[in-house]
Formats: sequence, structure tokens, C-alpha cells
Amino acid sequence: MTRSVSQVEQYERCPHQYELQRVKRVTPRPAAWSHQGTAVHAAVEAHERSGRALSQGQVADVFAAEYTTATQAALSREPRLGRWMTAGTDGQSDIEARYILGMDQARAYVRWAEEHQPEIWKSPSGEIGVEKHLTADIGGVTVQGYVDQLVNRSGGSVRVRDVKTGSTKSKFQLQTYGVLARKVIGVEVNDADWYMAKTGNLSRPVDLTGVTEDFVAERFVAMDQAVKVGAFPAKPGFHCRFCDVSHACRFSRT
Ligand code: SF4
Repeated sequence: MTRSVSQVEQYERCPHQYELQRVKRVTPRPAAWSHQGTAVHAAVEAHERSGRALSQGQVADVFAAEYTTATQAALSREPRLGRWMTAGTDGQSDIEARYILGMDQARAYVRWAEEHQPEIWKSPSGEIGVEKHLTADIGGVTVQGYVDQLVNRSGGSVRVRDVKTGSTKSKFQLQTYGVLARKVIGVEVNDADWYMAKTGNLSRPVDLTGVTEDFVAERFVAMDQAVKVGAFPAKPGFHCRFCDVSHACRFSRT
């Protein structure tokens, strides 16, 4: 069983949510914010893979195509917009607003990259460090991650960069990706940051110098063992409002 940061964080937030979604395979309620995030990632990736040859309009077009395809597919599975998850508004308005927001965020990334010119890491064979899939054994658990960007730093080290469209940032994600990059690619990683699509800028860097494999292993091992013994207690709370399987949960606080 391959584990990921999102599995650990979901399990720690509410083991029952993990069970409903990943063991019982309850169909989650759709959310336009999730499609917006995926489509912005696709637009940023396309820009970087083109060697930043795409214009703002072309990158926005990538966003539009990805977002439209994803929302239409989700609408065909769940046409009742009242069941879509939103942050307060109605489903239709949310889908429309996030289309406009995502287009702006895609264009803003192009402007930011043009101004700051970060240098993307390249492997000796020429593979670029964008949406890099890394898998390694961490503390006896197989862990995988998709690293949004690996960026060259002066002095020869590499910085892990995660592209964020929402506000929730996970330091554990950066720590895990730093350990994976060191272990799988063999590069020196001392820090990490987030590109925040909401502001069109970088966060402050997160120091990873003291983050060891043993440090991140602890949480993966604890989650892996708990899942294997079938420990899925419910942890209801404020987060139930953002739970996409709450319709199947008898402990829901929504
Ligand atoms: S609704 Fe709340 S208690 Fe139920 S699975 Fe979701 S997060 Fe857990």
C-alpha cells in the first residue's frame, strides 16, 4: 500500500472520513474549488513544460479547458448543484466565480514567472522538476508524492515548491517532499516554499535543514499501522463543514 501526505492528514483529521472515502469508497460531493486547484496546476505545469514560451492567454486557455472538462464531468455525475460543496455561496455561482478566478490566477503566474525567472531543476537526462512523481521507503512505509516544482538555489541545492490555490498550507507536505527529493533524486534540499495563487507571490521559505527521514516517518508509520488494524474512530468537529463524505456519516456536525 502506497501512502501519501494527504492520506496521513486525512487520517489524523478524522479516521472515519478516511474509512468512508478510501475503504468504503463513498462517492464524495463535488467542489468547484478542487477543480480550480487541479486546473491551475495544469496551467502552471504547461507553462513550465513549454519553457515559459506560452503567453498569458494560452496559459489561461489551459486552465479554462481543464476546469471546464472537470466541472462538466462532475456535473454529469452530480447535477444537483445544491449538493455541491461551496464556501457559502450557491453551486452555480461558485462554479462561475472560480472560472474567472482561476483564469486570473493562471495569467498572474505567467507574469510572476516572467518577473522572477526561477530556475527549474533539471536531471542529467534533461527531465525537468515539474510535477515530479517521487516514491521511496520511509520508515518501512512506501510513500509517494507529486512535487509541483524543484527550483535551483545558489550553491547547488534545490528548493521544493508547492503551488497553492487555497489557504491551507501543509508544512508536513513540504517536509515529506524534501525528504523524498533527497532520497530519490539525491539532491541537497535545505528549504521549501509555496507559490500562493491567491496573492500571486511566494510564501516565506520553510527551513528543512533539520528535517530528517525519521522525523517524517513517525506520522506515516502511525497512520499505516492504524489503518492496517482497522482503527477508524470518528472525530467530528468544525472540519465536518468541509467533509465531502458527510452525507454518509452519522457523526456529522453539519
Ligand atoms: S462528517 Fe465529520 S465526523 Fe463524519 S466523516 Fe466527515 S469529518 Fe468525520
